Amino acid sequence: PDTTAALSLRGVSAGYDGAAVLHGVSLELRAGEVLALLGANGAGKSTLCKAAAGLLRPTTGEVLVGGRDATREGPVKRSRDGVVLVPEGRGIFPSLSIDENLALHLPDPAARTAVLDRFPSLAARRRVLAGSLSGGEQQMLALAALLERPPAVLIADEPSLGLAPKAADEAFALLAALRDAGTALLLVEEKAVEVLGLADSVAYLAAGRVAWHGPRSEVDTDQLTTAYLGLA
Ligand code: ATP
Repeated sequence: PDTTAALSLRGVSAGYDGAAVLHGVSLELRAGEVLALLGANGAGKSTLCKAAAGLLRPTTGEVLVGGRDATREGPVKRSRDGVVLVPEGRGIFPSLSIDENLALHLPDPAARTAVLDRFPSLAARRRVLAGSLSGGEQQMLALAALLERPPAVLIADEPSLGLAPKAADEAFALLAALRDAGTALLLVEEKAVEVLGLADSVAYLAAGRVAWHGPRSEVDTDQLTTAYLGLA
């Protein structure tokens, strides 16, 4: 088996206008692995996503994609190489229909039909403008568009943010389908509960540093909620 990490961060420091946010962060993600990145508000989770996606260049350290140094490459090259970021803002075009949004990702009509067959709630309204969908449905659309050609790495920043429980379940089912297709997932959440169900490994970020990193099976949920997330 190929043991090369799909994505690795090695000693990455990064920030904004000289204000350091990440301090020497190291993480690795393999094909089909789900890493939950947890941490309080302001811990630097979004900043880590941006560094991983090439939107923010590390001040020190390295980012490797499939074992290759990609530290100095920007977001376009990074996504071409299979590292895709689903941002909090969902990344779909509200003034285009569901069909048209899917067509941007899947030019082949048969591929679109295959995706819509899996998601009847989207298929029923394929000519509806994406902007009129609920937040949860827009999230599903953004993720569904990736399913026919799963990326090597998907970075999802707060995939369940603002979703009703049922929509969150559907978004997590989509993420699981991408994982099953071999995508390595970096899932960022402020609250741990749903994402832990899917995670193989967990990293807690605190003040820009990895405070703990280990397999899901070793997570002490009580300690997690009190010590790291302040949810006691
Ligand atoms: P949240 O859950 O609130 O998104 P987070 O863990 O994702 O938190 P970041 O968004 O990475 O944290 O923010 C970490 C720090 O970087 C915060 O102090 C924040 O104010 C700062 N920061 C984030 N984005 C910028 C920016 N574009 N310019 C300057 N500072 C920023």
